[in-house]
Parts: sequence; structure tokens; C-alpha cells
Amino acid sequence: MTAQIIDGKAFAATVRAKVADHVARLQADHGLTPGLAVVLVGEDPASQVYVRSKGKQTKEAGMLSVEHKLSPDTSEEDLLKLIADLNADPSIHGILVQLPLPDHLDSDLVINAIDPAKDVDGFHISNVGLLGTGQKSMVPCTPLGCLMLLRDHLGSLSGLNAVVVGRSNIVGKPMAQLLLGDSCTVTVAHSRTKNLQDVVRAADIVVAAVGRPEMVTGDWIGEGATVIDVGINRIEGEGGKTKLVGDVDFESASKVAGAITPVPGGVGPMTIACLLANTITACCRANGLPEPEGLTA
Ligand code: NDP
Repeated sequence: MTAQIIDGKAFAATVRAKVADHVARLQADHGLTPGLAVVLVGEDPASQVYVRSKGKQTKEAGMLSVEHKLSPDTSEEDLLKLIADLNADPSIHGILVQLPLPDHLDSDLVINAIDPAKDVDGFHISNVGLLGTGQKSMVPCTPLGCLMLLRDHLGSLSGLNAVVVGRSNIVGKPMAQLLLGDSCTVTVAHSRTKNLQDVVRAADIVVAAVGRPEMVTGDWIGEGATVIDVGINRIEGEGGKTKLVGDVDFESASKVAGAITPVPGGVGPMTIACLLANTITACCRANGLPEPEGLTA
């Protein structure tokens, strides 16, 4: 079997187009412009790249993009003051604090200072609780992107066996909650899971979010399974050049799976698209307007 490729890059473009369409309608019908504030503390190069592309795509969708770049030695007090100001600013509907924060700042404290209604990363403890209890929440962007790809590819997920490899708060756990919300039978695997290969092989849906290059190989995958590879790992390729690979060994897995996301071009582009989707959802909720269809969980 040769797997169908799930083209996350193309799907993310359709999500961004939907968002841009809705932004134009909000402006025309209600004079509203959704606004996203991104806060970056320090000079981590990867974070700077992410923040730049978030700002660019936010503007391209017709939204207001505000960036706050703070020095690495910013005090917790100053950061919390900025968040309080953004919480109170009616032109800002989404607030994202780029992680990781420098060591002297308490990430949980900072994230939980964001108004949950503006928490477009979905990391605030209230949103975690709402998602866990099946209530309307802001949903973390990467798992939301994976869910959108799965729904688009499979239609109904009801009754399917899903295995999520990885139990982080930003990917694995919310992914499991979303799959449960769509009535999958969900197994969450992690570094202590026994017989991991057998667990994965029994799944109709495999979501790999491990952070280990090409760990999940073709012989772990059940015939015809749908494989979502969240991993982004930079490894040394031919001629000493670095290349990006996922947590799944694409070459062997694509011979067995029914469908698979590539890396790059799979889940990656969905994350920022879902950030834009969450910002427009937050804007609609804040203004008592119907939420755009197909952009939330
Ligand atoms: P974390 O390091 O926070 O979590 C990794 C998880 O994998 C942990 O639960 C860990 O288990 C589990 N794990 C580690 N080794 C093994 C193993 N040998 N067998 C089984 N499970 C194992 O990573 P994240 O969730 O933040 O990210 C996962 C991957 O996704 C990374 O490659 C990251 O770069 C990528 N990523 C991609 C995004 C995107 O936009 N596409 C966004 C976010 C992340 P335990 O808890 O037991 O230690």
C-alpha cells in the first residue's frame, strides 16, 4: 500500500482563506477588526522566526497584529502589567505569549494571567478544564490543526481507535481530549508505555508527538491507518546539511499507512492557521456574534 499524502500546507491555505473571508465580513458588517497581540521575551532565534511568521500571516488575513518584543531580563511584574493592559484593550481579541520564557519567569503564572477568553493558545488552566469537560473553550492550535486534518480526511472519527504518542500539555493531552470529543477510543502512550509498538499497531489513527526523529517506523503501523506526524526535528542529512524530519519514519510508514502527513508540509503549517482561526473565534465570542463554521473544535 502507498499512503495518501495529507497535504497540510494546502489545507492550511484553505483555513487562512476562510479566516480572511470572515475577517472581511466582520469589517464590512460590524466594523470589527480581530486583533492578535504576540509577546516575545528574549532573543531565542526559533521563537523570533515563529513570531515573525505569526505577525505576517495575521496581517495577510486582514487582522490587526501587535508585537511586543521585550528584553530577556524583563521582570515578571512588567510582563504581568503588559498582559493586564492587553486583557483590558478592546482592540485585542487574542494574546499569545511565546514559549519558552526565560528561566526567571514563571510560565504557568504568566499564562494564567491572560484573560481565558483571549487565550488563543488554549493553555490557560480554565481552557484546559473546559476542554477536559467537553465545554466550549479555546483549543491549543497544534492539536486543533491535527483534528481538522483528520476530520477532513476521514469524515466522522466516531468509534475509531486512536493512539496519541506523547502526553505533553501542549500537544498530547489536548489531542487526546479532542479525539475523545469526537468519540474515538483513545490511548495515550508515553515513554513508560509497555509494548508501545503493539499499542500503535492496533490504532486506526496514530498521532505522533514525541520529539524523537523518525522513531515510529512502518512496522509499528497498522495496515491502512491514518498517521499524523506532529514532530519537527532537525537532523543532519546528506553532505552535512540539516533537514527537517518528523517523529515518524515517512519512508517506511507510508508503505503501510492509508494516509500520512509529511514533514515539512503536514501539521506544521496548520498551527499558525489555527492561531488565526482561534483569534477570529475569540473576536466573535467577545462581540456576541456567531462563530465561523469549521474553524473550531
Ligand atoms: P514534549 O517533549 O513536551 O513531550 C514529548 C512526549 O513524548 C512526552 O510525553 C514523552 O513521554 C514522550 N516520549 C518521549 N520519548 C518517548 C519514547 N521513546 N517512547 C514513547 N514516548 C516518548 O514534546 P511536545 O509535545 O512539545 O512536542 C512533540 C513534538 O512535536 C516535537 O518534535 C515538537 O517539535 C513537535 N511540535 C510541533 C508543533 C507543530 O507546530 N507542528 C508544535 C508543538 C510541538 P514522557 O511524558 O513519559 O516523558
